[in-house]
Amino acid sequence: MKTAIVTGAARGIGLATTDLFREMGWQVAMVDRDREELEKVAGARENTLAVCRDVSNPQDVDAMMRDTLFWSPTVDALVNNAGVAEFGPIEDCDFTTWRRVMETNLDGVFLCSQAATPALKASRGAILNIASISGLRASTLRVAYGTSKAGVIHLTKQHAAELGEYGIRVNCVAPGPVKTKLSIAVHSPEIIKAYHDSIPLNRYGSERELAEVICFLCSDKAAYVTGQIVAVDGGFDSTGVGLP
Ligand code: NAD
Repeated sequence: MKTAIVTGAARGIGLATTDLFREMGWQVAMVDRDREELEKVAGARENTLAVCRDVSNPQDVDAMMRDTLFWSPTVDALVNNAGVAEFGPIEDCDFTTWRRVMETNLDGVFLCSQAATPALKASRGAILNIASISGLRASTLRVAYGTSKAGVIHLTKQHAAELGEYGIRVNCVAPGPVKTKLSIAVHSPEIIKAYHDSIPLNRYGSERELAEVICFLCSDKAAYVTGQIVAVDGGFDSTGVGLP
């Protein structure tokens, strides 16, 4: 049985990804810092391990790998999905907010990828990073979020370039809007309307639609794909239309 580590697995895109991996016959180490939610969803799912850790904390990330490798001696994929968002004008983004977003969205991807690399070398496995269309192009009111996700896109290319010789593939999915707790908190009615109007498919994506692409890129079906940024966004990025 193959093993994936999925961070931010307690809800949203991470939970849908966990469920699809399980349908594919994989087991999943579900990592999240929300203990209550994590234990509830992992407890209801076979072939999972609840790993209550914070991806932005180096000691926690070491412990995440220890817990996972005790449970499964091999790791075939790491999905760096845990993320947080902020919403507001540049002038209101204080340094605490900036650091909070960077610590999870960018430091977390760096720390988890580095910690998982020895195990992924052994399995010739895959890393899949979750960025955002906000990392592909600038929009207003999300300076820290957009910058952190642009960093994730570059980190994907750095890791793909360096880890390819070990057979490790590193790819990135850049989601468009998906109705989850994260987006509901930051999408105003004006933004929701603008997305509907400017996305060629005229709707938000679903968690499952994201999971399909994430799991494909982690699977052997994508054996010759690495260093790629795949926008799963209903065509939003291809149109060049901006948000308010
Ligand atoms: P969500 O808020 O529903 O889920 C995120 C999960 O990550 C939560 O369970 C949370 O507890 C966990 N988490 C946050 N910080 C953590 C940390 N430091 N350590 C461990 N766990 C942590 O969000 P979602 O919408 O499912 O987002 C998943 C990913 O997709 C994020 O990286 C997000 O930036 C990205 N994304 C989402 C959208 C969208 O519209 N929902 C769009 C583009 C990109």
